[in-house]
Amino acid sequence: MTLTLLLSLAQAMAPGPSSGPPTLHLSRTPAVQWRLTASPRYQAFADAWGATYVRWDERTGVPRFLGMTGAAESDAEALVAAIAQLANLDAAELTLATTRSRPFGDTDRTTSRYTRTWRGAPVEGDEVVIVATGGRIGAVWVRLTPISGLPTPRSNEVIVADPARGFGRLVHVYRSPMQVRAVDRAGAVVFDYDPRRFDTVTVTHEETTVGDALVTDAARGVTVTDETSVMEVTADDGSHSLTGNLMVELTGPDLVVLQNGASITHTGTDDIDLDPGDDITYSAANTLHHFHQVWDWLGDRWPTHGWLGRQVQANVDMSSGSCNAYYTSGTVNFFASSGVCNATGRIASVVYHEIGHGIHEYILAGGTFASDVSEGSADFVSATILDDPTISAGFYVDGSAIRELETDRVYPTDVTGEVHNDGLIWASFLWDLREAWTTTYAYDAGVELTDALFLGALEQGPELTDLLEAVLVADDDDGDWSNGTPHDCELIDLLTLHGLGPGAMGVLEVGHVPLGAQASDTEGYPVEVDVLSAFSTCTGIGAPSVSVWHTADAHALPPNADGSGWEPWSELPLSTADGVSYTGTIPRLPATSTTRYFYEITAADGSTSESSHSGNEQDLFQFWIGDRAPLWCEDFEAGEAGFVHADGIPWESLTGAVDDWSFGSPLGTGTFDPDLAWSGAQIATTALDANYQPQAAEYLQTPTVDLSTPGRMRLLTYQRWLTVEDGLYDHARVVVNDGTTWTPIWSNAATAAGSHQLLDGDWSTRDHDLAAFLTPDGSTGTPLSFDFSLQTDAGLEFGGWALDDLCVIELDDVPDHYRRVGLVASWADAGEEEVGTVDVSWHTPWIKPLSLTVLVRQEGRAPESLTDGVILDLDLSPVWGEVKTVVDTLPGLERGTEWHYALFAAGEDDLELYETAVEGQNAATVGFPIRDTGEPIDTADSGDSGVPEDSAVVVDSGGGKSEDTGAKTPGGCGCASGAGAPLGGLALVMAALATARRRRGSERSS
Ligand SMILES: [Zn+2]
Repeated sequence: MTLTLLLSLAQAMAPGPSSGPPTLHLSRTPAVQWRLTASPRYQAFADAWGATYVRWDERTGVPRFLGMTGAAESDAEALVAAIAQLANLDAAELTLATTRSRPFGDTDRTTSRYTRTWRGAPVEGDEVVIVATGGRIGAVWVRLTPISGLPTPRSNEVIVADPARGFGRLVHVYRSPMQVRAVDRAGAVVFDYDPRRFDTVTVTHEETTVGDALVTDAARGVTVTDETSVMEVTADDGSHSLTGNLMVELTGPDLVVLQNGASITHTGTDDIDLDPGDDITYSAANTLHHFHQVWDWLGDRWPTHGWLGRQVQANVDMSSGSCNAYYTSGTVNFFASSGVCNATGRIASVVYHEIGHGIHEYILAGGTFASDVSEGSADFVSATILDDPTISAGFYVDGSAIRELETDRVYPTDVTGEVHNDGLIWASFLWDLREAWTTTYAYDAGVELTDALFLGALEQGPELTDLLEAVLVADDDDGDWSNGTPHDCELIDLLTLHGLGPGAMGVLEVGHVPLGAQASDTEGYPVEVDVLSAFSTCTGIGAPSVSVWHTADAHALPPNADGSGWEPWSELPLSTADGVSYTGTIPRLPATSTTRYFYEITAADGSTSESSHSGNEQDLFQFWIGDRAPLWCEDFEAGEAGFVHADGIPWESLTGAVDDWSFGSPLGTGTFDPDLAWSGAQIATTALDANYQPQAAEYLQTPTVDLSTPGRMRLLTYQRWLTVEDGLYDHARVVVNDGTTWTPIWSNAATAAGSHQLLDGDWSTRDHDLAAFLTPDGSTGTPLSFDFSLQTDAGLEFGGWALDDLCVIELDDVPDHYRRVGLVASWADAGEEEVGTVDVSWHTPWIKPLSLTVLVRQEGRAPESLTDGVILDLDLSPVWGEVKTVVDTLPGLERGTEWHYALFAAGEDDLELYETAVEGQNAATVGFPIRDTGEPIDTADSGDSGVPEDSAVVVDSGGGKSEDTGAKTPGGCGCASGAGAPLGGLALVMAALATARRRRGSERSS
């Protein structure tokens, strides 16, 4: 474990109790969500079970929520087992804990909770929750903690998720009414909070007097006792049948009101009016009245609510504090007045708020009693009952309130970590919705609809960042996510205004198969990005535009998240015919080049997201261009095959730990591991079909590879399926070893937040340029070997390395690349004897480096070097693929003469000349036997054949064939003087090469 890790954990568990359990805010990074969704493993699951929407927990690579198309509720057990496999845990750990049904429209809604134990210890908060409507599974919540490396739990221990990173920790939880504390065996505090739901505020105030008018109302549900000890509880109209001297006590089946812990009684005769200030306190009178208001509301809105039918304890005028109230474990508690604040039990809004917390806790069919969601919900209970967005008017003796829901708070901008503040994001959304729906519908209908949606969402136990899915589950009416929900677009829009929605990007699913290595002659690189929308019916979300940004060779940094660093990148807008498949072609590059690219999606609302979301090198797609010849290759079909693997990291002098490198056939049973080998049956991997170990340090080393002969584009290349935690914690590295030194050439990215996991969902080609380890001609006297290492910390494990087809390659047949120029020579004008012109055309070869090309003509035989004949074209700044034409005027034509043309090229400089002429590639021949008709015969591309051809292949950009028999002017010639004139042979070419060398030298030195 590193120092950084300790600091990070320390930050995650600040000392002293916080005001509630840790809140969980999961990120929703489009590119990460897209990649996880596109993985073949998830796609197979989605196809099998009809999942049409998934929200991922990006920390763990496990779904958080699934929108389903109505699988039968009777298949719930099998679905839970399939989800367990997706999450890499034993399905037997999940057992059905509760099933709850309630009427829902014309049908019913059943919520089944499968909770988890691990080796006998409960995993707190872990569950799979199946939400079925009318027997169809429409939604699934998945809350599963990755567990590894834990000792066998003791009887009093439980497993909780680490608040920062999400992995399981074994703790003992100490609970008291005012503190919940989770401590691990080493004594470290994992979390620590006060379970009471407080309203805590500080404010400057003015002291004024406020007194509301007094209203006389029935005292419901209080106990009346007569002189013979007969007891009765008053009816809703306050009535009872007892007479004589009576004692009234503020206790009944629904509510007991206590006065600073003591029971409240009053004596009188027959009709008793509990007069505040005289008979009982204002707090007691008001709480008694207001409790029944919220209880009536709840009974009307949610008759099956689990808190109804239980006795609520309300403690008023508590002397232990002031300016506050709190909810805990089914009780509501109100402090006495002070010079600053009124007694909080007097304030209807405070009573509704505190009861609102209990409504939240007792409505949960699964999920969590999230603190920020609870505060927002409690505020909304007050606001909707009072039809007033002001929370706790009269809280202060000056009459002022403490919160206001007409605030339009936005996630995450307005998040401060203070739960009442953060809860306003949810509460202000609800208030906006209530305002909208009371306008759209009749007032009462709009209020009722909003309240039902609010409570239905709360039933799902969402965290703040789960509210999108929770709201849509509440709105869904048929258990089928694929046909949307009655108000989905309106809700998504409004949630998005408050930052709780998916945004236009969040509803998109994007698929892309990365381009791999490309052959030298491929004339462009077709790229496809598929875009689907989970909510295609909503306007403003559809019709995105898609671009691919690309750059040649490895000099450009990935663009940064802040928008800087875009300058060297070129945009390729993709086009689409069906609105799903977006295609385009990345322009061709010469062999030995690399292209790096990423895609960018712009939604109809202007928001954008890129696949290189974080500016990390590892998030770019990259491929090399050039035909590949293997120098050394291993596909692991024969197992270890001379590889070395061991625990420890030799170049860091680390020993011990774990070596679980394995060679075998993947079965696809691991969450993050391959389903199949890339080729053949076997691969090399850390822990076959399983996650790597905590505190692991291990490496795999290839046999040495002989690179003593010169070569071009030498790459270490392999197929990779790597999943590893952020490089802040776990390190996957590729290292080059020359026998004495180890040089890392790649490692997974580390981010400041430590939450950017690298999670490959498929095999992909990875190439590392070895030029830095080779002499300029591409050789090295020292054989090299290559190491793949993995070093991990104590928490959160993934699948680690999986490797296949590990090779060192080089560019195949380099001279051939310099000859692929499509040289064609054909008669432009045979003219009369002793006069004639020939069109010669070619394209500049697609190979890098390339310093010059020279077109040479020789009589009677092929030229043997670039100075062997007449130079017709000399190009010192060749442009790859440029089509060039020279019109060559031949002198002294005689029957039987053959004219040979060849285009020679040089690589880096004159040390690297390619001077072999090959007909059909860089050489062509024109003969001059004259037919009886007087027409010349083209013999291009067939120098060894005397048989005349009917037509020549001519790339004609320089005037070409014409009926015009007049003299031609040379076209397209890069020469200084007219074509056909000898240009001075060797001396001229050597001078040109010298110039080229000087030019490159000055470029290097500048
Ligand atoms: Zn509260």
